[in-house]
Amino acid sequence: MKTTGEVIGIIANLVTVRTSGPVSQNEICYILMDGGVRLMAEVIKVIGDKAYVQVFESTRGLKGGTRVEFEGHMLEATLGPGILTRIYDGLQNDLKAMEGVFLKRGEYNDPLDYESRWDFTPLATAENQEVRAGDWLGWVPEGWLQHKIMVPFKMEGTYRLKWIAPAGNYKITDTIATVVDADGVEHGLSMVQKWPVKVAVTAFRDKPRPFKTMETGFRAIDTFNPIAEGGTGFIPGPFGAGKTVLQHGISKQANADVIIIAACGERANEVVETFVEFPELDDPRTGRKLMERTTIIANTSNMPVSAREASVYTAMTLGEYYRAMGLKVLLLADSTSRWAQALREMSNRLEELPGQDAFPVDLSAIISNFYARAGFVYLNNGQTGSVTFIGTVSPAGGNLKEPVTESTKKAARCFYALSQARADSKRYPAIDPLESYSKYLEYPEIIGYLDENYGDDWVTKVLASKAMVQRGKEAFEQINILGDDGVPVEYHDRYWKSELLDFIILQQDSFDPTDANCPMERQVYMFNLVMDICGRKFDFADFEACVSYYKRLINELRQMNFSTFESDDFKRHYAAVQDILKEQQN
Ligand code: ADP
Ligand code: MG
Repeated sequence: MKTTGEVIGIIANLVTVRTSGPVSQNEICYILMDGGVRLMAEVIKVIGDKAYVQVFESTRGLKGGTRVEFEGHMLEATLGPGILTRIYDGLQNDLKAMEGVFLKRGEYNDPLDYESRWDFTPLATAENQEVRAGDWLGWVPEGWLQHKIMVPFKMEGTYRLKWIAPAGNYKITDTIATVVDADGVEHGLSMVQKWPVKVAVTAFRDKPRPFKTMETGFRAIDTFNPIAEGGTGFIPGPFGAGKTVLQHGISKQANADVIIIAACGERANEVVETFVEFPELDDPRTGRKLMERTTIIANTSNMPVSAREASVYTAMTLGEYYRAMGLKVLLLADSTSRWAQALREMSNRLEELPGQDAFPVDLSAIISNFYARAGFVYLNNGQTGSVTFIGTVSPAGGNLKEPVTESTKKAARCFYALSQARADSKRYPAIDPLESYSKYLEYPEIIGYLDENYGDDWVTKVLASKAMVQRGKEAFEQINILGDDGVPVEYHDRYWKSELLDFIILQQDSFDPTDANCPMERQVYMFNLVMDICGRKFDFADFEACVSYYKRLINELRQMNFSTFESDDFKRHYAAVQDILKEQQN
């Protein structure tokens, strides 16, 4: 029997319900409005027989006394073949299946197609084999990926596999396996399962610290501040600084199998832009459309705040689901500030004791718990999978000391601060080389991995290059104060060495077909070349000779970045660089 209740208070999306029986935190309920409209809501607080529920829709026209039915379960994601290519809202409604982009109030639809058939190939063969949550029973092709059909995450303990369907064509709801539990009870399994979005999926053996890096094709990330496979990072930046261009570039180029994007836009049209642009992007890895291995979870400011909160959790759950298949998942959220604002609004309506800037006092813990769901895992069968998470933050007024940025800084290991000044001077990507960091450069496992793959002293060299950028900035400040002639030529030399690193390694044109994506092999080559130059002592007659010398070097090296790696053009510009260097040897 379902617990029921009646509405006794309404403040915007926060509704108070007097309940007739037990309800639990995060339980889902429906408010049954006149005319058959059912509003979905989630319990966010229970005090005695009063449940405070956040409604995922507008509560316009809702009256006291309206009947409420509790569902007995939390907000769940539906997991099965056919998630990729879709555009969902935070409650996993398929937005593409609807007329226009947005659903009418109280309208929910199926997240998956229950009619289409999938070519199933069994993986588990031995009958009586012992299985448990997350174990692979078989697979179906989804795009060019093998979508694993697993023992549902909710099934606790071990089971005996009694029967598995032969290879063939099945609907997702058909029974594809039968398992028997310890009490001898049989359970039929299909290709669909459900999982509560706010609970981390733990159907794996082990979650070690990340120990290898994930290539993104951006030099400012891979060379300067690498992100780990299964790692976390975030990109704070003001409007127009390049957050979206950077996230699109990362999603196109990153060495990932599946991309999940939670688009929590400030304005509806910003999210619609992602819908329109993203499906058009080509996938450099397959030559097909990037959307084939992508799912977008969309939320706009005209949807109620609580739906925004749901969307990041739904996105994470989909990511964990594909990770359990042994895949590398890249999860992007743009922007997590909107999510934090949703938490703030609800907290204020509940009249909770406010923390800094009226955000909930546990904001940091909420953000940390969310980031902690990312990670690299060993599955029960010894295979590996990962969820790498990168979120953007839009700090109000560009203030990096505000609570969302500060809390995210504690949770995420990589910090890619986009600077207004760099964007204004068209130094893209506008990742500030001095503010930004990757904590992974301190992990012995990662240092070992980088040195092994890119050269014995790779990390030492990266740290040396960062110090050069810092010294270049200091020299620049001195030159500004004392004038070009007021400082020794060495100050100019120091400054221009940092400019060389900036122009050739940090800056990268996302709109140039060659420069947009820089594979690691090429990054290593260019970084070594530039660091070799930065390690040289030059002898200049005056600062003007110094400036013009470096400008010529930068020009030729830039042309190398724009030429196909190791092509004739590339070699020609390399030869020109060597000629310029020879001038200084005489
Ligand atoms: P945000 O999402 O932070 O508001 P966008 O990603 O939309 O900013 O970037 C704004 C503009 O800056 C882009 O339209 C583009 O002209 C320029 N831009 C940003 N990043 C790059 C880049 N990596 N290479 C070249 N141009 C860039
Ligand atoms: Mg943007």
